[in-house]
Amino acid sequence: MKLNIHNIFIALTLILACTELIAQEQKITELWKKEPSKVLTNEIGTPPSDAVVLFDGTNLSNFSSPDRSEPTWIIEDGYMMVNVKSRKGILTKQKFGSCQLHIEWMTPIQDLDSGQLKGNSGIFFMDRYEVQILDSWENKTYSNGQASSIYKQHIPLVNASKKPGEWQVYDIVFTAPQFSDSGTLISPARFTIFHNGVLVQNNVSLLGQTRFVGMPYYEKHDIKEPLFIQNHGDEVSFRNIWVREL
Ligand code: MG
Repeated sequence: MKLNIHNIFIALTLILACTELIAQEQKITELWKKEPSKVLTNEIGTPPSDAVVLFDGTNLSNFSSPDRSEPTWIIEDGYMMVNVKSRKGILTKQKFGSCQLHIEWMTPIQDLDSGQLKGNSGIFFMDRYEVQILDSWENKTYSNGQASSIYKQHIPLVNASKKPGEWQVYDIVFTAPQFSDSGTLISPARFTIFHNGVLVQNNVSLLGQTRFVGMPYYEKHDIKEPLFIQNHGDEVSFRNIWVREL
């Protein structure tokens, strides 16, 4: 083909048409309508702007005892501690389904017990599905019952525990189970967990409510339920608790 003005014009037109076609193809896969809402993350260690702050170190107004009485857990220097005399855990007044939870916790140095009796607590999502809290620094127990296990269902990928007396962090993504109207399970509960910044549970599915005795199974419950923090008779402390609904 001769390189004259006419041919150059045709070539340029073809190039432009192709470019336009590619641009259109590219736009088909671009999603513009649904825009993620802006969240201010502030300083590291503070809750993001859309979080529900459950405990900021000052009071237990967002919690009650399981019998709906005022909780008697101890508040000191910006943290709260299990009241071992009361033997009662605490429930959030607000109910949650799928959510992201940030919680900082510390097991006591002075606890000289072992196994499941050493720095035991736990966070029960929907008052049923427990992420274990335990002193797992140098404390042997069954692996599916150590810190950051899904109690008796999933062993953590690694043991990212710190020593007792040091603050530890859980960042947890919980997906609530779904049930049909008749009560059959449509999709199971799932957890992804970071323990002290390390991935320890990667989108694991639950077989049902976590249980101390017997095999887990599901029973239909509401789409939102309270979070429960366990009193296992050990002086475990907590601070900076916030949750984001998903
Ligand atoms: Mg526990």
